Amino acid sequence: MSRKNRVPLADRVARAAEAALAAQHFVSAIDILVGIGWLDSGAVERWRRGQTDCLEEVVQVNLPRISEAMRLFGSWAIAKGLFPSPTAYVGRTPGRPTLRFSRGGNPAIEASYRTHWVSPELSEKKRERLAETASRAPELVVIQPLNTEWVCNRCGGTGDLLMMETPGPACLRCVGLDDLEYLPAGDALLTRRAKSKSSRYAVVVRFSRTRRRYERQGLLVEPQALADAQQNLEAP
Ligand SMILES: [Zn+2]
Repeated sequence: MSRKNRVPLADRVARAAEAALAAQHFVSAIDILVGIGWLDSGAVERWRRGQTDCLEEVVQVNLPRISEAMRLFGSWAIAKGLFPSPTAYVGRTPGRPTLRFSRGGNPAIEASYRTHWVSPELSEKKRERLAETASRAPELVVIQPLNTEWVCNRCGGTGDLLMMETPGPACLRCVGLDDLEYLPAGDALLTRRAKSKSSRYAVVVRFSRTRRRYERQGLLVEPQALADAQQNLEAP
């Protein structure tokens, strides 16, 4: 038995919770599962992109253990006097689906997973702002592939940009983003204005082999939003 396993689960949950609370003023079920080492952040990212049916599927322990950890987390949060804050979890895909945590999909269990516990030290206003940010739908991410020999999993076509789906890459026409216009990064003000005027947009990233991570290249925005933003900036 490893040394880690001898630490009681309640202590491991409390330690993960304290760390998340100190870092961000709230704690989520995902913070706990990642913090105690049962879930890796790569799996969370795949789940957010809709590549996994539910989160429990990628947690590395069985259901009774997960339930036990979640029960301990709930008791810890209540004992600490944290405020429960129901949070929306929306997928990072154009359909904006509500993400599922549990295999069974029981509403009460889903609700407990979606509850963020917020520090009582924050003012009511700050708590509200935090809740708003946490529930915001994540940005859509479009990839500029390094390998240009890719094939769309839906239509067999290809293109300069793709979006990752569970079965594989998809072209922008198939995901319904092909009407958007590319705005390269560089002009921060124009980017911010165009984004705020565009009801649909996606972030364009490319993998950097040297830095070993995805880097922002620019934004896809509605052509009208871009034209309006440009015109506003040119106006005296
Ligand atoms: Zn396609």
